[in-house]
Amino acid sequence: MKKTFFTVGPSKLYSTVPAHIRRALEDDILSLSHRSQAFQEIFKNTVASLKTFCNIPDGHHVFFLTSGSEGMERVIQNCVSEESFHFVQGAFGEKFHRTAVGLKKKTALQSAKNKNDFDTPVPQTAEAVCFTQNETSTGYQAPPEVIASAAKRYPEKLVFVDVVSSLPYVDLDYRAIDCAFFSIQKGFGLPAGLGVIVVSPRALERALALEKKGLNVSWYHSFGQLLKYAERNQTNETPNIMAIYLLGKIIEDMKAVGLAAIRKATDDRARRLYRFFEENSDRFSLPVVDPVLRSRTTLVAGVTGGSAPLITKLKEQGLVVGAGYGTEKENQIRVANFPAHTDDDFERLSVALQN
Ligand SMILES: *Cc1c(COP(=O)(O)O)cnc(C)c1O
Repeated sequence: MKKTFFTVGPSKLYSTVPAHIRRALEDDILSLSHRSQAFQEIFKNTVASLKTFCNIPDGHHVFFLTSGSEGMERVIQNCVSEESFHFVQGAFGEKFHRTAVGLKKKTALQSAKNKNDFDTPVPQTAEAVCFTQNETSTGYQAPPEVIASAAKRYPEKLVFVDVVSSLPYVDLDYRAIDCAFFSIQKGFGLPAGLGVIVVSPRALERALALEKKGLNVSWYHSFGQLLKYAERNQTNETPNIMAIYLLGKIIEDMKAVGLAAIRKATDDRARRLYRFFEENSDRFSLPVVDPVLRSRTTLVAGVTGGSAPLITKLKEQGLVVGAGYGTEKENQIRVANFPAHTDDDFERLSVALQN
């Protein structure tokens, strides 16, 4: 039976991925040199497509990394000399914080399970405020307006946003964000193996200034190196050429659908599934109490009596949902609601959940 993956990443592939992979093979994309003109065209097209699709300002830079986790390390390593501040709603926010600790930064962490937790003052000495816009482990989100208001409140601090499991759905004002990073195996419906970071001119400047002073120790993916190669539409290393190619192709396909239509479909499916969980409160619970903080792209529900039997039953019908994360593994399910998913997928899921 053909399975439909509702797992939160890797997840269901975008429908056109197999055709693009075949085309890449036919066109010898996978044997191209990463110093060739043909590769530079691919690099340039993917960056340009991403910028127009996500409304990223011209002056912002797009660099390729290997993963979302690398994004956490690079933003701290490149832009923070001493201290970062972290709003944390689950395991990925904790990982972001731990990354800063691992890089020997002074840190402070604020748990944000209520909307007004985001009003907690950020210490004056913190150089950066870090958000996990969509917390895949717990199904919380940091609403875009919360991030925008922090940017306004702390104009001198850098704002870093993990958008690994919310792009391209989430509508961010990149003019107010210094670094945003993601990987492609979640909302873009692609195989894993590529990270992307969007860097503001100000963040780049900060990184280059720290590098000059010798305060940030990194080389291979320092912003200076990333910039040097990106200016030639290249990467320092031999990159995941197939992934860079596929990302550009998938964005063009998503553009044909339209980001407004993708966002509306995502909102509608999320609303229907949350309503279903609410209407079946004998069997399901919603751990994120405030609807404003509920993720639209990775939905989490508690399952009365434990989630394992339900996950097994769904799997028998070809519907693969995620287990809960960490200590909630046996108690919750997680359901991805990415652009690759269709209304029909969700209809089949909700019928299966009803029985
Ligand atoms: C998956 C995920 C990551 C880690 O991304 P990788 O590409 O697996 O390194 C980071 N943050 C969030 C919110 C995620 O969902």
